[in-house]
Amino acid sequence: MKSFEVSERKLAESSRYLAGGVASSLRAAMKPTPLFVSSGAGSRVRDVDGNEYIDYLLAYGPLILGHAHPVLTAKVHEAMQQGYTYGLQHDGEIRLARRLTEMWPSADKVALSGSGTEAVMVALRLARAHTGKTKIVRFHGHFHGWSDAIFTSFPSPDMKLAETSGETDEVRPGTSGQSRSSLQEVILLPWNDPEALENVLRARHAEIAAVITEPVMCNNGCIAPKPGYFERMRELTAELGIVLIFDEVITGFRFGPGGAQERLGIVPDLTTMGKAMAGGIALSAVVGKLEIMNLIDRGTVNHLGTLNGNCIATAAALATIEELTLDDGAAFREMEQNAIRLADGLRILLRKHGLRGVVNRTGPVFHLMFIERDEVTTFEEFAERDAGMYAKFAELMLNEGVLVRPSGLWYLSSVHTEEDVTLTLASADRALSVLTAINR
Ligand code: PMP
Repeated sequence: MKSFEVSERKLAESSRYLAGGVASSLRAAMKPTPLFVSSGAGSRVRDVDGNEYIDYLLAYGPLILGHAHPVLTAKVHEAMQQGYTYGLQHDGEIRLARRLTEMWPSADKVALSGSGTEAVMVALRLARAHTGKTKIVRFHGHFHGWSDAIFTSFPSPDMKLAETSGETDEVRPGTSGQSRSSLQEVILLPWNDPEALENVLRARHAEIAAVITEPVMCNNGCIAPKPGYFERMRELTAELGIVLIFDEVITGFRFGPGGAQERLGIVPDLTTMGKAMAGGIALSAVVGKLEIMNLIDRGTVNHLGTLNGNCIATAAALATIEELTLDDGAAFREMEQNAIRLADGLRILLRKHGLRGVVNRTGPVFHLMFIERDEVTTFEEFAERDAGMYAKFAELMLNEGVLVRPSGLWYLSSVHTEEDVTLTLASADRALSVLTAINR
């Protein structure tokens, strides 16, 4: 058994100074203890106890080039020699924004921010200003950051249910202390249900500014859209004067150079992106149609942020995009191939160990769940999974030297190899044996 003694000691120490002992609430869920890291290189990360892991957490998505990628590191160092941030304009911003408009089908113009949460805030504001309406339609099981305006309960099974003190609101806040009035603007609908969508949009379009959706329900179950669902969503929103926002914070720079929207063949009005965009340096963006983005040009919509478009972030994004698009996007194809190998391998292992489960894969991401079903196509079905059993599996994998989220997606980077996949499947085989023995 691996020892996590130093991590445990450090958690006790950090809890004295850092609220919650970790820097983002989600991270507290890791068992047997939140890990403290000493370094990362490529597809591997090493903890302070000296344990090494093949990393499929990848910082919850951003590390698309793996840890400490030499080109990304060199480009960031190079940029830093000229200063980190000016609060003034520089060429890196122009180069990045132009590159994004070339890559993304829906991008006429770009607004840069620091996190996915901020990008979503900007997108919602743009949609309201453009339409003069206020309501936002969002879906069960999707996550769009943690701002008061959009954070609803059960963004992720890793998080505890907010203390709602008996509230009966249909749309419950995601956390204690959240403004209740902001969520009065949110209409929460089941996803992948074209009828429910059409009924609400037709009945209430006069007050609905935007529909915001993940292109694949990556945050809960990696559920793909049903054929025709997004085509219908696109037609209805266009017909009824509603802004369609694709939240590609996870799928952007992962599903391909033009994100999931390029693969789905849907052109939304606005798109949010972040995470993998700058390979692990804080950066996000909203991109979209000229007539909406020009609200910022005209000064109608304020888009603010001290560190927006800083030199480190733009250099990191340009380097990341360059690496990802080498050889006509070979990195995207390899990530997907490895995801297929892993997902197929895990399905075979579930059968071998006589365990009921589903591996939902779309493109280069997948989600493994233990569930008494043959397929999972809705959030309601996903909610039936045995989350505790998966958390135990993740803990057993950690002991095997494989780092996966206690629940949720497996992320792959451009530097994970076939050998990593083979080692991982051998680890999963052993972990599932132990799991089966525990459950017996
Ligand atoms: N949108 C989606 C789809 C996300 O998955 C996330 C983060 N998991 C966010 C927005 C928020 O991004 P950030 O954590 O960078 O604020």
